Amino acid sequence: MATQEKATVENAQLKDIISHAKEYGFVFSSSDIYDGLQAVYDYGQMGVELKNNIKNLWWKCMTQLNQNVVGLDAAIFMHPLVWKASGHVDSFNDPMIDNKDSKKRYRADVLIEDKAAQYEAEGRVEEAGALLAEMGKLLEDENLDGVRELIISEGIKCPISGTANWTDVRQFNLMFSTQVGSVAEESQTIYLRPETAQGIFVNFLNVQKTGRMKVPFGIAQIGKAFRNEIVARQFIFRMREFEQMEMQFFVRPGTEMEWYEKWKEARKAWHLAIGIPAESLRYHDHEKLAHYANAAVDIEYRFPFGFKEVEGIHSRTDFDLTQHQELSRKKMQYFDNDLNEEGKPYGNYIPYVIETSAGADRLFLMTLCNAYTEEEIVEGDSTKSRTFLKFHPALAPVKAAILPLTKKDGLPEKATEIFDSLKYDFNMIYEERDSIGKRYTRQDLIGTPFCIAVDHQTLEDNTVTVRDRDSREQVRMPISELHNYINKAVSFKSIFEKLA
Ligand code: ATP
Repeated sequence: MATQEKATVENAQLKDIISHAKEYGFVFSSSDIYDGLQAVYDYGQMGVELKNNIKNLWWKCMTQLNQNVVGLDAAIFMHPLVWKASGHVDSFNDPMIDNKDSKKRYRADVLIEDKAAQYEAEGRVEEAGALLAEMGKLLEDENLDGVRELIISEGIKCPISGTANWTDVRQFNLMFSTQVGSVAEESQTIYLRPETAQGIFVNFLNVQKTGRMKVPFGIAQIGKAFRNEIVARQFIFRMREFEQMEMQFFVRPGTEMEWYEKWKEARKAWHLAIGIPAESLRYHDHEKLAHYANAAVDIEYRFPFGFKEVEGIHSRTDFDLTQHQELSRKKMQYFDNDLNEEGKPYGNYIPYVIETSAGADRLFLMTLCNAYTEEEIVEGDSTKSRTFLKFHPALAPVKAAILPLTKKDGLPEKATEIFDSLKYDFNMIYEERDSIGKRYTRQDLIGTPFCIAVDHQTLEDNTVTVRDRDSREQVRMPISELHNYINKAVSFKSIFEKLA
């Protein structure tokens, strides 16, 4: 298939996934009845279950599988100096450019990246690489005029107005600010956190001391983060309000690269364990490092729109803790009484930090894209197509559907009895409307791994049929075996075992 043709097919696939997500209650635009709010989304009845399952799995893997990692839930609002210390006030910027005709605002780097992607799609790989390298250099030198000239010399036009009538490139801070305090004069500007990590840094000693933690140890947190992204596109890939799952791992200086490698491996293994195929994942090493990092890598997933970051692993040195020590004037040191090669305690130091930072919404989108399956089924002379969501059963929003074959003869009562016996342990659906075939289809569309049909034989011998979502095969089994059968497939244990 020609590259361009392939890109069109892939975009069509993303469109299908977006409409599927809306139609089956996974993701809605925020304030939908008011035509939505750009780059803000709500999770529907299926979406919230899927997202909670992803977050729970991450949380349990981090905190239960690692004895030296504990959790935290810090507030979204933080002292304004936190963001001064972290560098976000001064340098959490994106370069933006406006088109004077359409009045549309773009990220200057994204316009150039899109041009490079176009070159790549046309097989002009070297030109694409050279363009990206040139942009990288200009941004590093903070040469914003140079970035503008590059946009013009590459003939990049606004997709709306079709013109190259560009303003200057300016830096735009991505943090949202608001005011605290009831009296205007007393009010103080504070920010909605753009990352959860700083909540961990400022609590480093609270957790270390009260938990009697010894370096190396980690603190994990899941929470909302906010960024005023200029370019909001690709559905929930880039949002203005999103959720992060971050872990800061505090280590002895000099051992950071060893831990960096360990976490890099461990996090990729996690993505594989939840069913993402190896060929859809890759590492992307950062060539241009953030001011605080001495190594950084992204784990990228092959979305329908190309390989893109889902998680970052960063070696952040002692940058953040040192900065907080300076601005708060509170010591951020840790006393390490382990003995070094000379037989003396390592003593006081500010730990180095390895960070793993994943977006819950990006992992959600990855899980959804990976699960979305269309297949042709041959039945005799005819073929029909089937769409289903092939979620790992541990992540599936609904674990089983209980379906009485008919609405009479005591089948609903029997089915309800089964439902009630399982509902405390599994999220399930009970459905008696429509033909059994239609009900199977509905469950396929939301990715329910098991459909349990209750028929007349059930009343006689207490057995049911269990239909498997992926193979469509049905097996008959005693009701008493259902709990074990479902549990084996949906519990996190099988994932834990792969990671142990
Ligand atoms: P990008 O280059 O895509 O903007 P980033 O390098 O700024 O991402 P980090 O600051 O490293 O991202 O954030 C860590 C993780 O948080 C990312 O891997 C991603 O999963 C998630 N994330 C970051 N920004 C957004 C966003 N606007 N919407 C959804 N998830 C996000």
